[in-house]
Amino acid sequence: MKLSKEWDVALRVIDKIENGGFEAVIVGGAVRDHLLERQVNDVDVATSALPSEVKQIFSSTVDVGIEHGTVLVLDEGEPIEVTTYRTEGTYSDYRRPEEVAFVRNLEEDLQRRDFTINAMAYTKEGNIVDLYGGKEDIENRVIRAVGDPNIRFREDALRMLRAIRFGAQLGFSIEGETLKAIQIDSDLIDFIANERISMEMAKIWKSKYVYYGLQVLNESNLSKFLVGHFAEQLEDWRTFKAEKSEVGWAYLCLLNRQDFQKIVEFYRLSNKEKTYIRKVLKAFDALRQKWTAMDYFSNELEVLETAYDFACWQNEKPAFEKEHIKAVKSNLPLQSMNQLAINGNHLVNLTSRKKGPWIKVALDAATIAVLNGYVENDEDKLKEWFLNDFIDER
Ligand code: ATP
Ligand code: MG
Repeated sequence: MKLSKEWDVALRVIDKIENGGFEAVIVGGAVRDHLLERQVNDVDVATSALPSEVKQIFSSTVDVGIEHGTVLVLDEGEPIEVTTYRTEGTYSDYRRPEEVAFVRNLEEDLQRRDFTINAMAYTKEGNIVDLYGGKEDIENRVIRAVGDPNIRFREDALRMLRAIRFGAQLGFSIEGETLKAIQIDSDLIDFIANERISMEMAKIWKSKYVYYGLQVLNESNLSKFLVGHFAEQLEDWRTFKAEKSEVGWAYLCLLNRQDFQKIVEFYRLSNKEKTYIRKVLKAFDALRQKWTAMDYFSNELEVLETAYDFACWQNEKPAFEKEHIKAVKSNLPLQSMNQLAINGNHLVNLTSRKKGPWIKVALDAATIAVLNGYVENDEDKLKEWFLNDFIDER
């Protein structure tokens, strides 16, 4: 498989760090995804060098998380995060620790990582450092905590939801002891900041195996502590598939309309997300009545297609095919209001009336008349329509 550009950049970064007399390796998700032959995105480098030492080696760096040992190296074109080997200090309140301790050996760094599949390192020579059987777990498609799962989840309860998220992304099962520990400790998720929960859920929505992921979310007991009726509504998710997380939030709101406010608050959804959700739900309702030319006109194609998907996932597949939406939309006599052949000035000149809110009312009515085919989008025809039909009706 072709490796990403970032992977090569990371190897060059490693080379420079090694030339500086330190150790450096690729770690975490990139190693996992490389072994799985999945698309590798963020390539993280871990090193025995302290942040100050990393900064001496490279000419262009940014302190993105220096208190946690992370320096962003910009020297090689693509930005690469370089993090000093570290262990995590004491944990309190089941949340990840605020302080970390830098260490000089890789073994300790790998030990703090959440799952065996995420706890491997890749050396410049192409060797895999695999202290916890991550490779074997990848082969067997299981997610297993590094060390005692109960201890690890009590250190940072978010790891429980991360297990489900990786399950949903990869289609892996959760190893028995790890799952049992989540079932026991599921209530500790209440200690985790909603923003962190939301980020994991957003990744679940974009996953390949959402239905399976939610099944495990229920099985793990975690769903009891999250907003959304995942146990009762599991079947509604059977055919769900999304490329962006907003679609997941919107579908969750569709299934739980009475809890809209609770959902947006719990998952800390942004105004942009809220606006998107409202648009899709409105289009979904309109589809049940049958979309009018105005519905096709006023909604973006993606919103219409998502509302169409919702209908399919709800076993209400419309009588037309999805491709039809694009065709109808592009055949509309107008694509936007500013394509209308008359404007406010035309109307003022025609009537000698003063400018006022009536202009918007008239232009909206003209838009509807054009969309519905009552009048052509032509300046003279629209003027005629305006004088005969619109003014008459007033
Ligand atoms: P992706 O970026 O595809 O979501 P990832 O594995 O890179 O997946 P990140 O959240 O970016 O996940 O974390 C990078 C690595 O840091 C993980 O692979 C894991 O080794 C470690 N890690 C992240 N979060 C935790 C955590 N809460 N507890 C322990 N280790 C963690
Ligand atoms: Mg990552």
